[in-house]
This record gives sequence, C-alpha cells and structure tokens, in this order.
Amino acid sequence: MKLFSTNNPNKLVDLKEAVLNAFPEDRGLYWPTEIPLLRSDFLSRLAEFSFNDIAFEVSNALIQGTIPEKDLIDIIENSIRFPAPVVGLSDDLNILELFHGPTMAFKDFGARFMAQLMSYFTKGSDRKTTILVATSGDTGGAVASGFFNAPGIEVIILYPSGKISPLQEQQLTTWGNNIKAVEVNGVFDDCQALVKQAFLDKDLKSRYTFSSANSINIARLIPQSFYYFEAYKQLDRNKSNIFVVPSGNFGNLTAGLLAQKMGLDIHSFVAAINSNKTFLDYIDSGVYEARPSVPTVSNAMDVGDPSNFPRLLNVSGSTWNMVKSNIRSYSFTDSQTIEAIKAVYNTYHYTIDPHGAVGYLAYLSDKEISPYANYTVLETAHPGKFSEIVNKAIPEKIIVPEALRSFMDKPKEAFNIQNNYKEFKSLLMHL
Ligand SMILES: *Cc1c(COP(=O)(O)O)cnc(C)c1O
Repeated sequence: MKLFSTNNPNKLVDLKEAVLNAFPEDRGLYWPTEIPLLRSDFLSRLAEFSFNDIAFEVSNALIQGTIPEKDLIDIIENSIRFPAPVVGLSDDLNILELFHGPTMAFKDFGARFMAQLMSYFTKGSDRKTTILVATSGDTGGAVASGFFNAPGIEVIILYPSGKISPLQEQQLTTWGNNIKAVEVNGVFDDCQALVKQAFLDKDLKSRYTFSSANSINIARLIPQSFYYFEAYKQLDRNKSNIFVVPSGNFGNLTAGLLAQKMGLDIHSFVAAINSNKTFLDYIDSGVYEARPSVPTVSNAMDVGDPSNFPRLLNVSGSTWNMVKSNIRSYSFTDSQTIEAIKAVYNTYHYTIDPHGAVGYLAYLSDKEISPYANYTVLETAHPGKFSEIVNKAIPEKIIVPEALRSFMDKPKEAFNIQNNYKEFKSLLMHL
C-alpha cells in the first residue's frame, strides 16, 4: 500500500511511515494512492459476516498485504471489541450507536486501532515514541485509553481550558504513567496549531520521535470506515440509504466516503454541523474559508478549519460540484440542539446526546428533499458524557454509566500553559 500527500502527489510513503509520521513536511495529509473496490460477493453477503470479519475484509483490501493476515487479525481483535448496533426509531430514521467502547464515543474505534498499529510498527525499536495530540473533547480520552500502558509509547494531550466538559477533562487528566495532559488557555484550534508547530520543530525532533493521534492519522480513519459496513448490514438495502454524520474535523464523514468508494451502496451523506459553519459555507459558495472556532454545546464539533477537508476533497473527485452532489450540509444553533434532545425524547423515548441531536435536526431538514430515503444518524457519543446539557432537556435524570463515573473521583493532573508556542516548547524540552 502506498499513500501520497494531499499537497504533493509525488510524495509517496508506505503505511508504517504514514502511521508513525502522520504529518508530511509539506503540511498535506496522507491518503491511499489506490482505493480498491471490494469483492461483490462480500458486499452482497455482508449480513453473513461478523463485525470483525468485515473489519478484516475492508482493511486487508485497503492495505494490500502490508501487514500479514495473521497479525492484522490480532490487531482487529484487540481493537474492535465492542458492537455498533443500529437502533430503528421510525420507518425512515435509524440511530447508529457508536458509543459502546471504553470512553463511550466513536473515537474509541479509531484510537484503539491506531494504538494497535503503532505498537505493531514500533515493536523492537529502542526509542520511545511520543504521541502528541490536540483534542476538542473526545479524542484525548479515547487516545489515552487506547494507549494507556502501551510499551515504548508516551502520550501528550493538549486541550482547551474550560472548553470541554468536566467528565471529558477527567478522562484526559487522571491516567498517570505514560499519559500526560496539557491545559492550554485558548481554543481547540490553538491546541492544534501548537501541535502542528511542534511537529516541524528541529530542536524537538532531535529530542523526540513524534507521532500524531489526531484524526489526521490515517490509522484513525481506516477503522472508522468499518462501521459504515457494519451499519449497512443491519439496514434495509432496498432503500436509498443516507448517512447523517455530526461533523467537526470531518474524519468520520471522510471514512464514510472511503466506504462508499470501496463499493458500499450509500446514496449520499449529510454533514450535520453546529455554529462552526466553515463546511456549509463551502457547500453554498464553493469557497473554503477557515475561521476561528466558536464554543457550542456539541463541543467535539467546534472546529473552524476541519483538518480532513483536503482528503474529503480528494476522495470526492476534487471539485465543488462533485462534493455537492454527494454531501449536503445543515447547521444548527445551541438552542435548536437542546430542543432537539427534548423532541427525540418526547417522540421516540430515546435519549440522544448533543452531537447526535444536531444530526437529528439535519435529518429533519434533509428529509424534505429526499422523502423516500432511509436515514441513519451516527450517534457519536453516549448521552451520559454530556449529562449537564442532556439533563436540562429531558425530564428523566440520565444515568451516567459506571465506566464514566469512575473517572470522576480520580485526581486531575495537568500542566497549564498560555496559548504560546515558546511556553509549550519549553515545557516539552523539560519534560
Ligand atoms: C470527534 C467527535 C465528533 C466529530 O467527528 P469528526 O470526525 O471530527 O468530524 C462528533 N461527535 C463526537 C461526540 C465527537 O467526539
């Protein structure tokens, strides 16, 4: 398998290089040179395959023998350990629950698969690998959980102070051992900028072997395509199936495009977004203009410059018209989001989290133009992760699962810095 940089089609690397060194120096993103079409007998008989078998078929086709089949099976067995069930709410509305992993958000799929791949590729190396990651909420916890106690790997997580939920913060700052947290007085985009700069810093590079765990790492994206197949197998294939993806950095949606490109019969996609409207404005105008992010109640989607946009463009065929023909987008405010949590509860007696609620609103909007389609909204996190918000919207008090509650009692440990590269660098030089 070869991957190229979206900023330079001639810059080719193998999977190991792309996974361990996720940022090409030209600041592009790695993407496979070839996306294979899956066997039609596999696609037509999806229902006969287990989730793990599906993950194997998809990844084995994509990586084209880069990892021996036996090792790939182990990697999948150690990462895909929880289901992705589809819950039908009505004739045309389904919820794909992606929150059955250890940190109860979809990022567990990507983070665990990536941790397994990195451990596989660094086995036997005598230098420690340092994973530097910026999080807008859920990434950090999933990455920390995936890598906790992984031999030869250390994780440094940057998060925006006060911009993530108390529970998310506990999931970043209470691990100890090989997991370190840095609280930045700034917004998510500041954290991401600090990480990007550190990756290109010569002094730091001589001291560290860096790797990235953000959604830009192709190892995060590949496993996110698995659950589109897993969902599809549970859906009515005689209908036009549309996936609604609550989006921030657009890794999840790009993984859906990858599944579609590999032959999965997805009619089209809906990008559900909050007040961070960069993508919607692009769909409307054809002009991509990054902006500062604004905080919302669906905070894992507070991204003003979605990092996977170059990949999304590439896999779509690189023109605005091609993107528009496959992806529609709708944006909603916080008050609409809270009303939607109420509406889903009252109509279906289902408790949805704020990110899924934005998805539900996008479903309602899109259904106006595709009344006969079958919609599946990705529920990207367990509502218990956002109980402060959800409890305000519904009459019942949401029960926070034990797996989450256990984080609340542990002491927080984090380095606090200003949004200042010098200060960040100095911290890294002295850690
Ligand atoms: C990360 C995240 C998103 C956004 O996913 P992207 O792949 O960045 O678009 C949506 N919802 C939740 C709960 C998340 O954690």
